[in-house]
Order: sequence, then structure tokens, then C-alpha cells
Amino acid sequence: MQNSEDLFTRAKAVVPGGVNSPVRAFGAVGGTPRFMASGEGPYITDVDGNRYVDLVCSWGPMILGHRHPAVVEAVSKAMSSGFSYGTATPGEVELAEAIVGRVAPVEKVRLVSSGTEATMSAVRLARGFTGRSKVIKFAGCYHGHVDALLASAGSGVVTFGLPDTPGVTGASAADTIVLPYNDIEAVEEAFAAAEIACVITEACPANMGVVPPEPGFNARLRELCTANGALLIIDEVLTGFRVSPSGWYGLDPVDADLMTFGKVMGGGLPAAAFGGRADVMANLAPEGPVYQAGTLAGNPLACAAGAATLRALDADAYARVDAAAVAVGEAAAGALAEAGVPHRLQRAGSLFSIFFTNGPVTNFAEAQRQNTQAFTAFFHAMLEQGVYLPPSAYEAWFLSAAHDDEALDRIAAALPHAAKAAAAVL
Ligand SMILES: *Cc1c(COP(=O)(O)O)cnc(C)c1O
Repeated sequence: MQNSEDLFTRAKAVVPGGVNSPVRAFGAVGGTPRFMASGEGPYITDVDGNRYVDLVCSWGPMILGHRHPAVVEAVSKAMSSGFSYGTATPGEVELAEAIVGRVAPVEKVRLVSSGTEATMSAVRLARGFTGRSKVIKFAGCYHGHVDALLASAGSGVVTFGLPDTPGVTGASAADTIVLPYNDIEAVEEAFAAAEIACVITEACPANMGVVPPEPGFNARLRELCTANGALLIIDEVLTGFRVSPSGWYGLDPVDADLMTFGKVMGGGLPAAAFGGRADVMANLAPEGPVYQAGTLAGNPLACAAGAATLRALDADAYARVDAAAVAVGEAAAGALAEAGVPHRLQRAGSLFSIFFTNGPVTNFAEAQRQNTQAFTAFFHAMLEQGVYLPPSAYEAWFLSAAHDDEALDRIAAALPHAAKAAAAVL
């Protein structure tokens, strides 16, 4: 670990916390974050030469595994032509067509560089379109680090137990109404009490662990938005093109007015998008008055990586991701049961997470009942045996189509010892 330790020391001198995104610092689990040097298929190798089965997959984008030949070829080809022109390029048309062709409610789409930009822009557009201010979001849902959407957010915000983030003004927080997830009555009451510009929800929440919507929840949000003249924004940054070719929409076809995408659609390079109804999207500059722009939006390398990833995601690739997710979820739950560790496996398509608490978990408050010490012991025991889990109890575990039998066997072999380590700290 010496090289990772040295790099972490250097990084902390010049970067806050030594990392460029908080969860990477291992703050919740302790220890030295591993600096990665390379990836191949389902494996990543750190700067000390330790190889791990990767269950983070860059938090979702690497659904084909690392350095998939078709993606490497597409990016190499794009790279040999030029990096960025600040003009329109052919690759962005192809990527936009791929998205519109897969997700029915998306008639028009605008490319951006991060999921945060996508949700920020979608909310701005919804406010511009409706002429209203208030946004409903759900506790435990994460939509990137947009000021108005950080209240009670999942992902790193919950990992570090941040209550409300300093730097978000009272004014921007005041227009955000935070409601408990899966509580449709709370949504009805909020609509009765105020004029709402939009409801934003994760298609299937996976940033507080995986907490699927109860049957009909998204459909009821659709009805309430329509009845009250508000827009429904479904955030598929994490689920999009991962749980099916058309994302969560493929499993739970509720027509949103606007949708947001990221992660898989960039294939590991910075690309994200928001899109939806043509009449709403027509309000965006230069067609309409709502301003939104980006120097690197639709970057040629990112578009090439994203389009190649979507092309390579055939039925067989999705079947492999699904099978790997079932195998790992069941093996982990089995090992924890054997060791007597309270846990709850929750799945939604190929997404799953393990809560270190007895379930079911239907909302953020229930997710927070976890025994994070047990998770920490489990995490480190897996890491020592060469399996890289998300360094937080509140994240989904990500599989790829490259997770073959050898990789799955390595995970299965590591689980019993890790489950015992968790049991030892109960
Ligand atoms: C990751 C994520 C985001 C933010 O995307 P970034 O590219 O990290 O800005 C937004 N929404 C959801 C549901 C996400 O999982």
C-alpha cells in the first residue's frame, strides 16, 4: 500500500481531503484510499500492483468492464481526429439519436458533461416552462450537487452524515420541499399546499442503497403532476441504459416530462444529458429563452465512448450483467445469513445493495438504521481479499458484462471471511 499512501499524502497537500469526490477518501470506512493505475474487464489494479475485482465500476459507467475493445477502438479513432472544437460534430448527433431511439418519452435531448449539470438544467427548464419556483424532491434521492437538490440527499451527503450543506443559501433551499420517499400522501399534501414547478425523483433510488419505488408510486407522481400543472422529472443518471436498454423506463414505463441521464451513456468519459417532451425542450436556448450551455458539452471523445458503449450493450451483455448481479447478491446475502449478520438484500433489475439492518427498507429513515460498523469490517475484509466494494454502506454494488465466472468465484471465495469479520463487531 506504500505507493497509495505516498500519493494520498501528496494529494492531501494540494487537494481538499486528497480527493476530487468525497466518497473516494474512504472517510466512512477508514484506511488508505487505493489509487488505481489501470483496469481490465472486471478487474482494477492499484499503484502498488494489487488487483481487485471491481464492484464499483466507476459508480456505474463501466457496464462493459474496463477497456472494452469496441469502446477503446471508438475513442482511439475519435482521438486521432481531434479533441474538441467548440462546434457541432457528427458524434453528438449519433449519441442523441441513440438516446431518443431508446427512451420513448425523450423526443429531444441536450448533451452536457455531468449528471449534476443535467438535473440542474432540467430543474431550471421546468421552472422556466411553468413560471413557478417550488421543487419537490425525496429524502435519500441524490441528483448531483445542485444547490437546490442537496437537502437530505443520498450518496456522499449521507455517507458523511452532512445535515445541510453550508454555502446553499436559504433562498435556494426555501424553494425545495423534501418529502419522505414512497409516501404518496405527503406528495398529495404538498401539492394541496403550494404551487409546484416540478417533482424530481430517482427512477429507482439507488443512492441511499437500492430502495425501489412501491408499485404505482412513479405512476401516481405522474398523475399528480399532470393534475396540478407541474412537470415530472425522472432522474435516470444511474439507472439509464443499465437496468434495461431503455433504463428504468423499460421496467416501469411512466412518461416523464423530462429525464436525466449520465454514467453509462458516457462509457467512462464525461457525458450526460437531459431530454423529454419536444414542447418543453423547445424552451431551451437557442430555440427558446431558458439559457443553458457548455464549452465541452457533446465532447467528441465522450460521445464516441458513449455511443460505442450503447452499441455494444446487446441482449447478451444485459443478460450477463443481470446474471452477475443475481449471483453476487445471493452469495453475499447467503454468507451474511450463515454468519448471523442482520442484513437485507434489495434488488431492482440488475441493481442491488445490501443493507446491514433487517429490512425491508422503503425510505431514507429506514436506510439510516444500518449498522455501519458491521459494513466497515465487511468492506475491509473484502478489500484485503481483493474485492473492491463501494466504500460506503449507502451505495449500490455495480456489476458489468465482463464479470465472468472467474471474477464471480473470487467474490464468492472472499465472502465467508468478510461476513465473519462483520459478525465479530456486532
Ligand atoms: C451520479 C448521479 C447524479 C450526478 O451525476 P454526476 O455526473 O456525478 O454529477 C445525479 N443523479 C443520480 C441519480 C446519480 O446517481
